Amino acid sequence: GTTVYYDADCNVEKLVGKKITVLGYGSQGHAHALNLKENGMDVTIGLRKGSKSWTAAEEAGFPVKETGEAVKGADIVMVLIPDELQADTYANAIAPNLKKGAYLAFAHGFNIHFNKIVPPADANVFMVAPKGPGHLVRRTFQEGSGVPCLVAVEKDPSGDTMEIAKAWAAGIGAGRSGILETTFRQETETDLFGEQAVLCGGVCALMQTGFETLVEAGYNPVNAYFECVHEMKLIVDLIYEGGFQTMRNSISNTAEYGDYLTGPKMITEQTRQAMRDVLKDIQSGAFAEAFIKDSKTGFPFLKGERAKAENHEVEKVGAALRNLMPWIKK
Ligand code: NDP
Ligand code: MG
Ligand code: MG
Repeated sequence: GTTVYYDADCNVEKLVGKKITVLGYGSQGHAHALNLKENGMDVTIGLRKGSKSWTAAEEAGFPVKETGEAVKGADIVMVLIPDELQADTYANAIAPNLKKGAYLAFAHGFNIHFNKIVPPADANVFMVAPKGPGHLVRRTFQEGSGVPCLVAVEKDPSGDTMEIAKAWAAGIGAGRSGILETTFRQETETDLFGEQAVLCGGVCALMQTGFETLVEAGYNPVNAYFECVHEMKLIVDLIYEGGFQTMRNSISNTAEYGDYLTGPKMITEQTRQAMRDVLKDIQSGAFAEAFIKDSKTGFPFLKGERAKAENHEVEKVGAALRNLMPWIKK
């Protein structure tokens, strides 16, 4: 079974007296840094020269230094910059300044698992991966709870790397909801598969295609948006609370009948095979290579698709509808 740790199983004090550097002050960076600081830890922020985040980190009361300077002398370096920039930043600014025996940490296993970063033998390497966006890591902490985290240790010359990883996870609030032990490989490959095949790629394509099908058949785009996009949250909230059964208990028999009849017509053997192929490309490193290659040439694919998506009719209809629904927070 899976080992789950809570606050009582973690010793946050293990971080006291350690010089902690968080690289990056974006979604994850601000959340880890602020939560640890409010738990009494000594946190410095490392950013590149001219960074847009620099002022925000200073205004929050952190000492801010350029990446290489911030790494010098640090006992723990948590790398919270975009995945595609980590390997170059590691080579140029982290590796030349990393103290012997330091702990090098990540919130996603990508660069370690795909060997884009190969730390020296004396470095301790761990991961604390919150299973939610940084803004939720921050907000739930302030509310007295926390976002669950995965923890993993890749290299442990000191012998206490898992203790430090658990302390970090508890320090950002995850001990209040659950800290699950995993490996870099498990975290990296399941995270990439989930976001591509299901959560982001799969679900958005499903909703948008449903919308297009109704509009193409002459239905009002407003109705199409409500049925294929807006209501997704209500259904997912029920699944989140109690699984598929809870959701099916609260929908009509009509909806449940259509659910069983039509689901298998949408997700066919061909779709299942496509999922297996996607997983193979993740496992082989082909996806990682393609992503890094796009990033190195200025993200032509990412930016082209982003522009297409932003201009799709579904977004215009959604924006107009949300304006009519003041209860939806901006
Ligand atoms: P963001 O894009 O939100 O933030 C990146 C931060 O890094 C910014 O402050 C940016 O500042 C800074 N930065 C960019 N380049 C450099 C550089 N070369 N040197 C120093 N700082 C730099 O990143 P995320 O928080 O989304 O992602 C960070 C890590 O967390 C990734 O490994 C990601 O996979 C992981 N993660 C993210 C989750 C999420 O929900 N966002 C969830 C779980 C894990 P500026 O551009 O102004 O220089
Ligand atoms: Mg991810
Ligand atoms: Mg309905």
